[in-house]
Formats: sequence, C-alpha cells, structure tokens
Amino acid sequence: MHSNHKQFLVDSDNVAFNLKHRNTIAYNISKYDAAFEVGLNRYDDLNRAKSIAAAIKRSVLKNLPSYLEQFETAATNNGIEVLWAETPQQAVNHIIDIAKDANIKKVVKSKSMTSEELHLNEELEKAGVEAIETDLGEFIVQKAGERPYHILTPAMHKSRQDVANLFNKLYNLSPDETAEGLTAYVRDKLRLEFEESGMGISGANFLIAKEGGIALTENEGNGLFTITYPKIHIVIAGIEKIIPSVKHLDLFWPLLACHGTGQQVSVYNSVITGPRKPNEKNGPEKIVVILLDNGRTNLYSKPHQSESLACIRCGACLNACPIYKNVGGYTYNAVYSGPIGSVITPHLKSFSDYKHLSFASSLCGRCYEVCPVKINLPQLLLYNRKQAVEQDLTGLKDREAFKMFQWVMNSSAKLNNVGSFLKSGLFSPFIMNIFGKKRKFQINSKSSFRKEWCKNRQVKT
Ligand code: SF4
Repeated sequence: MHSNHKQFLVDSDNVAFNLKHRNTIAYNISKYDAAFEVGLNRYDDLNRAKSIAAAIKRSVLKNLPSYLEQFETAATNNGIEVLWAETPQQAVNHIIDIAKDANIKKVVKSKSMTSEELHLNEELEKAGVEAIETDLGEFIVQKAGERPYHILTPAMHKSRQDVANLFNKLYNLSPDETAEGLTAYVRDKLRLEFEESGMGISGANFLIAKEGGIALTENEGNGLFTITYPKIHIVIAGIEKIIPSVKHLDLFWPLLACHGTGQQVSVYNSVITGPRKPNEKNGPEKIVVILLDNGRTNLYSKPHQSESLACIRCGACLNACPIYKNVGGYTYNAVYSGPIGSVITPHLKSFSDYKHLSFASSLCGRCYEVCPVKINLPQLLLYNRKQAVEQDLTGLKDREAFKMFQWVMNSSAKLNNVGSFLKSGLFSPFIMNIFGKKRKFQINSKSSFRKEWCKNRQVKT
C-alpha cells in the first residue's frame, strides 16, 4: 500500500472519530444546507439552468485549445499580458520575476485555490516577498499556519470560538469576541496592508474568451481591493476556466453563488478587461494573466475523466459528500478535496500516489445530484478505479480478496457451501482494513441466506 494511502486511512480514522471536528463541520454544513435550499428554490427551472450550463462547459471543453487562443488574443488586445505555465514552478518563476522587476516586497492576495497549487505563499516568502491573504477565511487559516480546508470555505473546520482563541493569542483580542468584532478587526488590519502592497494576486472564476476578460465573484470586497489598490495585478487561472462570452455570466454567476453559498448572486462581481486607461483614476497599471496547466492537459487527454474540467469550483459536492463530512478536508492531503478532488487529484498530481482517493467514496450519487454543471462524479470515480485496476496499482491483498470474492459470488453453490467461519476468515483481513479499528467485524451467520429463506417459507406454508 502506498504511503499516501496509509496516511489517508490513519488520518480518516482519527478525524472521523473526533467529536469536536464532527460537531463543527455538522454545524457549518447545516447552515450551508439551509441557505442552499433557499437558493435552489429561487429557480423556476433549475434543471434547465444546469443543463444549459453543462452544455456550454462541455462545448468549451471540446474546443478548449481554440477558446484559449481566442482568450489570449482578446486579452492581449485589451492590454493584458498573458503568460503560460506548464508547471507550478514556471508560474512561481513568472510571479517572482514580476515582483523583483518592480521591487515589490509585499503582495495582497484574494482567495485563489489555483495559487494553492503553487504553494505560492511559501515560494514568495523564500524570495523575500510577504504574501497577505485578504479573504477572511484564508486570513484565518494563514494565521493558524494551515491550508484551506475547503475549496470555497477555507476555515469551515473552525468555530467562532476557535477563531477568537487564535486572535486572542495573536492579537490579544478578547476570547469572547463576537464574529462581527473579529471580522471588523481583520477588516481594519487589512486596509493598511492594501495600502502598503505593490502587487495584488487573485484567481479567476471565469476567463471570458470573446471579450478577453476575467470574471471574479466574492462577498467581502477584498477581491475588488486586491484588483484596484496595487499597481500590478496578477491573475492565476487554470486553463479550464473558460466561458465563451460575457453574456454567459448571467447564467454562471447565479449558479455559482447559489451552489456555493445559497445566495442569489454574490455581493461583488467584477469583470477585468484591462489595465487602467490614461483617463481613468483607479485600477492597476499592469495586469498579467498566468494560464496554468499543472496536469490539466493530462486530465484533458482522458476520454471520460476530462469531463471534470467543466467544474466551476462551487464546493457543493464537498458539502453533500458523506465521506468529506466524516474525514474532513485535510485528510485528502491535496489542494482539491471531496468528490471533485478525488476525481482530479490523481491526474493533476501522480496517479499511483493519489489513486486511493478514487476509492474514498460510497458512490451514493449525491455529488452528481447537486453539481450545477452535471458532472457525473461517481461515474468518473469508477473510471479512475478502473484505470487503477488496469494499471495494476491496487494492492495485492485487495486483488486477491476480489478474486476470491468473484470466485465465490459467481456460484450460488459455493456461496451456500462455504461455511460462516471460512467466509469470515477469508474476507476479514480485507474488510477489517476498510472498517478500521473502531467497528466490529460481524461473524457471518452459520446458515446461508438461502437456507434461512427456505426454512422460513416452509414454516409459513
Ligand atoms: S464538481 Fe460540480 S459540485 Fe463539485 S465543485 Fe465542481 S461544479 Fe461544484
């Protein structure tokens, strides 16, 4: 068994039985669920909206290279510099070169999971540049020395009390400080950081091919400040973030808001179409978009799993997933967790190192049900599992157990005649591995189901 897989089992075992963690997640997801329900009910025909969004994203994927070229041409015509990065290191190098050229020592960042792929904060620090997270959740996890726990709600695993305790330690605030008080403190603190920084870094919710723009949606206004305050703005975007035209935002923005937070639309919605013009007072003098591959081309080459590139990172599948709710975001040990993370991480990183995530699903189908762009995540997980079997990447114990299982299940005579002790003995090492230490393995009944069925029928008749 690969060490990542072993670590996943150990961590999931610990987290799933951590009652404090369970209560915090249950509370935070219950609030999301209530808002999500309201959001869904705002749609007259949600299924139609989802079908149209799904079709647009599939059509973009079919023609992704030409859409990317269209975006590059239009954005360049708008005065935006477009750079390509095949690897995280190339993207980091681009950013550090820009910072060094402009003698920048401090950057402000708005929420960007793509920047997490680069371990950007650590890389900037090594280069002598301080990175300040300005999204409240990101700020909290950065100050706690942690990574984002969830693709949309980075501090979902923390209660108000956890945050109050952290700020008490760091800033001497009262441990009884209210959520409003904690937020106001961060807001004031960040104002100064915006003023002092020379560069802003954000992700992109959508890259708009026809108009060459970048669409950003957020609730705190920090994204807007990140774009407008510093002289230089850098956007880091995965190559899959394309939508054809600005007219599609009226479909995608509400869908993303509804599935992400239950809102009708997020509070701040910005479309960046170029640096500040000579007659304009505000905005950056230079905008650079870095188009990141980092394994996406590999994923794009997979006939089935490439569908996952339609994802708009709403986070709904994480909130719906019974596995995510039990093992939590960190156990996946990957930037993207939950069902979408389990599908894409093996392809974005290393299939042999991360294929075990594809088995971290009960295949209940709830993630598919909630996905605004109708990605059939359970089916894609099965395709990943198939690939793992075809590439002989499953463990010897698993393979032998399944061969035995198949041998017995293929014949009812064998199933009936293999005694309970043998059945339990044969499968227990395999099953115990899955059950972990905290569940008792049930010894099979001495009699088979068929025998019991016949006996009961005879009794009744
Ligand atoms: S796979 Fe679907 S539900 Fe999950 S984050 Fe992406 S768009 Fe949202």
